[in-house]
Amino acid sequence: MNDAKNSTRSDPAGAPPRPGLVTTPLTQRFWDAANDDELLIQRCRDCGHRQHYPRNICTGCWSEQLEWQAASGRGTVWTFTVVEKPGHPAWAGETPYTIALVELEEGPRLMTRLIDCAPDGVAVGMDVVLRPTRDEQLGQTLITFAPAASD
Ligand SMILES: [Zn+2]
Repeated sequence: MNDAKNSTRSDPAGAPPRPGLVTTPLTQRFWDAANDDELLIQRCRDCGHRQHYPRNICTGCWSEQLEWQAASGRGTVWTFTVVEKPGHPAWAGETPYTIALVELEEGPRLMTRLIDCAPDGVAVGMDVVLRPTRDEQLGQTLITFAPAASD
C-alpha cells in the first residue's frame, strides 16, 4: 500500500486511460439509448430493412427515410475472437476477453464484447442476450452481450 509506484497509477491495474468515445450527430441517439440500457438499430420506412451501424441511408434501397428501433437484445454468435494482446494498453489487464460478431434476431450483425463467459466457453451459434456494461471511466454504457444461459 505504501508503494510509491502504485500511488501514481490511475487504476489498480496501472493501465493508462481508455481512449475516449467518439460520437457524431448520426450516432449520438444510439449512445444515449445505450445509457438507458437499450440497443437501437435503424429501420427503413420505405423497405423495412434493418441495419447497424447507423448510416444516413438504407443499405437495402438507399432511402433516407430511416427510423430508430429498439432491438430485442437477443442474438447468436456469428463468429468471435479471443483477444490475448489488446490493440491499446488500457485493456491489457482484462485479457483474455472475447470480441464477437453477434447476429441480432432482427438481422443486423454487430461487433461487441461478450461478458460473463470464459473465452473457452464461447461457440459459434451460441444464444446471447444484451447485457450492457457501464464504463465509469468513459461515462458511457457500452453495448455488451452475455450467454443467454447465464440469465
Ligand atoms: Zn430501405
